[in-house]
Amino acid sequence: MFQFNKLLTFLFELYDKKNKIMLDTDLKQGSPFMNDVARKKILIVEDSSLNAQITADIFSKYGYEAEIVRTGEEAVEKTKSDQSPNLILMDIELMGKLDGIEAARIIQQFKDIPVIFLTANTNKEIMEKIKSVTGYGYILKGVNEYVLMSTVEMALKLHETNIMLKQRERIFQFYHHLFENSPNEMYIFHSETLKFISANRRARENLGYSLEELKEMTPLDLKPEFDMQSFKKLLAPLYEGKQEFVIFNTMHRRKDGSVYPVEVRLMLIESAKEKVYMAIVVDVTERKTLERELQERNEILSTIMKSAGDAIIIIDDKGDVTFWNPAAERIFGYTKEEVMGKELHRFMIHDESLYQAYKKAFKKFQLSGKGSAVGKTIELKTRHKDGHEINVELSLSAVRIKDSWHAVGIVRDITERKKIEEMLYQQSITDPLTNIYNRRFFMQMMEQEIERTRRNGKPFSVIMFDIDHFKSTNDRFGHAAGDMVLKSIADIVKKRIRKTDCFARWGGEEFIILLPETSIKDAVGLAEELRERVSSMTLPEVGRVTASFGVASYRPSDTIDTILLRADEMLYEAKASGRNCVKSE
Ligand code: GH3
Ligand code: MG
Ligand code: MG
Repeated sequence: MFQFNKLLTFLFELYDKKNKIMLDTDLKQGSPFMNDVARKKILIVEDSSLNAQITADIFSKYGYEAEIVRTGEEAVEKTKSDQSPNLILMDIELMGKLDGIEAARIIQQFKDIPVIFLTANTNKEIMEKIKSVTGYGYILKGVNEYVLMSTVEMALKLHETNIMLKQRERIFQFYHHLFENSPNEMYIFHSETLKFISANRRARENLGYSLEELKEMTPLDLKPEFDMQSFKKLLAPLYEGKQEFVIFNTMHRRKDGSVYPVEVRLMLIESAKEKVYMAIVVDVTERKTLERELQERNEILSTIMKSAGDAIIIIDDKGDVTFWNPAAERIFGYTKEEVMGKELHRFMIHDESLYQAYKKAFKKFQLSGKGSAVGKTIELKTRHKDGHEINVELSLSAVRIKDSWHAVGIVRDITERKKIEEMLYQQSITDPLTNIYNRRFFMQMMEQEIERTRRNGKPFSVIMFDIDHFKSTNDRFGHAAGDMVLKSIADIVKKRIRKTDCFARWGGEEFIILLPETSIKDAVGLAEELRERVSSMTLPEVGRVTASFGVASYRPSDTIDTILLRADEMLYEAKASGRNCVKSE
């Protein structure tokens, strides 16, 4: 729409300029083509060759090119050719079938060439005939050369003027067509009375007024929001030549009373005679509806973003924060005021090398909107403003805004969830009574250890031990006392072994220890020490307990089952050897 307006303005200007040039040329130099007399061609149609030659000589003398033909038919042929003459001097009575009048009439049908008739007499009948064919008049045969030349030159000039007028008419038609068929409403109104001079079809149809009705009205009749004073004030900068356009939004009222929103573009057009205003009016009903819908959507979106439990963060193509919702404030501890316009990762990442790695990845994102985390949900650890670590889940997506890639991050605080997950995991691998690992976790560790040993060749050992005569402890002191014994033994063993050892309750009153990178000798030494500690411990109520130990070490051909079986066999041997002792393979 805007393009069209521009075009129209341009064309109007062009039209004005063109008019001016033509008028100026007219005034200063007569016809702009008269300087070119040497090239002008005059066709003399005359059956008397003597007369024709005399006339031709005169034309030559004045710088014209003259050609002679004798019949009307020949004249018609000549004008059909490419080098048709600029003017024809036509005798009325000719030798051929066509007389001069008829020949001229035929020529006029296909070519616009001025024809001056040559006649010996000037009776009424001949005069009428001449008038019916062309408007360039006649010359009496035998007139002097001055009359001849001035008549011819006047005819040529009149013809040029006619051509110009026709051109002007065509240009006018063109602009009128643009005006009338513009998809925008267009109005022209008088600069003093403000009365409409014209309004295009779109304007008339949308308003429901005829042109006759509009001609009795002013823009004020259409614009309920204006009175004479306020409207004149609006026009003042145009009228005083201070501004080329005035653009404003208002309402238009139709004939049926309904109103619609419009954007009006006003300009002043000055012709030599008077000043008029032109208004190009765009019905913006649709635009307003879209604007309102957009605003409503924005409100919905902003409500969602404000009340969301997840942080919603947007960064622009430079990595600067452009959006930070209340949940982001809560999760990260930074207020919106603190972060807006600042580089997000500068204050979120404290490790310099990590920050540099991020910068590198962000360069790729800037160009392509792509990145390893884009379109995915990832879990990561970061820090709250006050320094404590938080676990977050980040869903990252890329959006193209104003030709550059922005990133939208939705961040969920999963610290609590992580804690619960961790707790559940710990529960799943822990024996609830003794608080040491359970058999399932021990088996997982065994698998890993066998793998590791196969890789690095460093053998591990296993100690399996079982409380002696525990049944009778239970029987004598009760089940609760038995439990207490189990806990005490677990505690005392836990205190002695290394962090890297894996200590688990194998089942009932049986325990097992995995000792990575430990030889059989060292394992036996440890088992002996543990046996000693257990047996020397005095438990309230129960008194002393002992345990028997079996020790086995990894052999290259071992599976989990074979090594455990050997440890079990050694334990059995310890029991068989009288208990409270250590047996190894
Ligand atoms: P041995 O010296 O041959 O190992 O004799 P033992 O009595 O210790 O062996 P046995 O297998 O006959 O008995 C094991 C007892 O351990 C039986 C069972 O009631 C008891 N026990 C197993 N698990 C628990 C537990 O969680 N708490 C308590 N209090 N007792 C348990
Ligand atoms: Mg036992
Ligand atoms: Mg047992």
